[in-house]
Amino acid sequence: MRRLILGGLLRPPLTEARPAPDESMVGELAAALDRAAFKRLGRSLSIREVDAGSCNGCELEIVALNNAYYDLERFGLRFVASPRHADVLMVTGPVTKNMREALKRTYDATPEPKWVVAVGDCALNGGCFAGSYAVVGGVGQVVPVDLHVPGCPPPPVEILKGLIALLDRVNAKSRVATA
Ligand code: SF4
Repeated sequence: MRRLILGGLLRPPLTEARPAPDESMVGELAAALDRAAFKRLGRSLSIREVDAGSCNGCELEIVALNNAYYDLERFGLRFVASPRHADVLMVTGPVTKNMREALKRTYDATPEPKWVVAVGDCALNGGCFAGSYAVVGGVGQVVPVDLHVPGCPPPPVEILKGLIALLDRVNAKSRVATA
């Protein structure tokens, strides 16, 4: 018994070592996103996350954007509590029948200009939940989607790249419109 306790105390924890931080890549992406947001909005981007019925795997990756490792807020990007303060609705999961109305209302409550980013494979077409009696389908079946970030779940860096692609596209369109 004593040997067992001592062994437990002396053995290192069974957690994996964290990957080497790719600080420059995350920093560059987040700074590029902030520049694109300033070009279009004159300020940083505000994001409202909506879980329309996901398994929460996508949420774990989205929440990681704000943890000590990625720490997006240092670049000015913010997750907000109300759609009335948001520029982007970031929607995850297949849309369940119970969440259809809530998602529609959240979309209607978001002021223009607004964009919808569907995050994860389920948000495209229901993913592994497609065909369930409880599921309507992808996000695009309920509200217009401007960008889809694929993956199950997509890692934080891919979500960042998706947001940059969205704002680049929006900025290019507004350049064409004013030319
Ligand atoms: S895409 Fe994958 S992680 Fe995201 S909600 Fe669907 S099953 Fe879960």
